[in-house]
Amino acid sequence: MLRITSAALGFAAAMFAGAALAQQPIDWDKIEIKTIDLGNKTYMLTGQGGNITVAVGSDAIIMVDGQFAPLHPKIKAAIAAISPLPIKYLINTHYHGDHVGGNGPFQADGVIVVAQDNIRVRLAAGTTNGITGAKAPPVAPGALPKETYVGGSRNVEAGGRVAKLTHVTNAHTDGDTWVYFADANVLATGDTFNNLKKYQAIDFANGGDVRGMIAANEAYLKVANDNTRIVPGHGGLATKADVAVFHNMLVTARDRIEKLFNEGKSEEEVIAMKPLADLDATWSNNEEHARNYTKMIYNSFRRS
Ligand SMILES: [Zn+2]
Repeated sequence: MLRITSAALGFAAAMFAGAALAQQPIDWDKIEIKTIDLGNKTYMLTGQGGNITVAVGSDAIIMVDGQFAPLHPKIKAAIAAISPLPIKYLINTHYHGDHVGGNGPFQADGVIVVAQDNIRVRLAAGTTNGITGAKAPPVAPGALPKETYVGGSRNVEAGGRVAKLTHVTNAHTDGDTWVYFADANVLATGDTFNNLKKYQAIDFANGGDVRGMIAANEAYLKVANDNTRIVPGHGGLATKADVAVFHNMLVTARDRIEKLFNEGKSEEEVIAMKPLADLDATWSNNEEHARNYTKMIYNSFRRS
């Protein structure tokens, strides 16, 4: 159990912040779940891993993402402190372990996990990280989403609260869902956006593509207004202005690397040219992160 958890964590950390973090074991006992009230009985929870969104209805609760399995008791306690009502649905934004680790224990509690169908397929088969080669093993059957959808939008409702799920094809992965709670004007993006002002991994080995990342962020700019509270996959609560900055970075990176790709430059040549050097100065954590990001964008164009 510990071994599987560590592997999942290493995978997520490597995808997100570079291999160095994958070496750091997490002391789960020290993680604190913090709750931010977004108004209209809607909350953002932070701990370790992807941010969680919670919407409380008249007789049940919807949550978006569930972090890591070892945090399940703490997340449950944090939600119980908000409301004694049962959690009916747990929506997965994508398959990475720092977002879906809670699937097994929450479903054992009777919660129904809802996700785009590629999440079920990838969790059942196991996956390989395109940057590190690290393998994530198949998850236990109880951790697979019980309800899935394929494309477009789908509503999930509990006690009068409606979560509108929309699938964006080939973005951070090939199974991304973003969630909008219109009654609270709260948008949960998963890892198609972060509010760290840092590059966000594109999991090209599992269907990720910078063009889908751009499409997702363009959808957010359309659905959001200046009052929208945006729960990013990672980082603090965001606004539409934060999405605009992130979107500009994506478009610049896409334009430069797509041009080089179309000129027939190899991956090695493009990485050596450092086409994003000016962005790297602030958007990357270190040189390895910068190199990997260029590689992720380049590999987006190998998909088609
Ligand atoms: Zn992710």
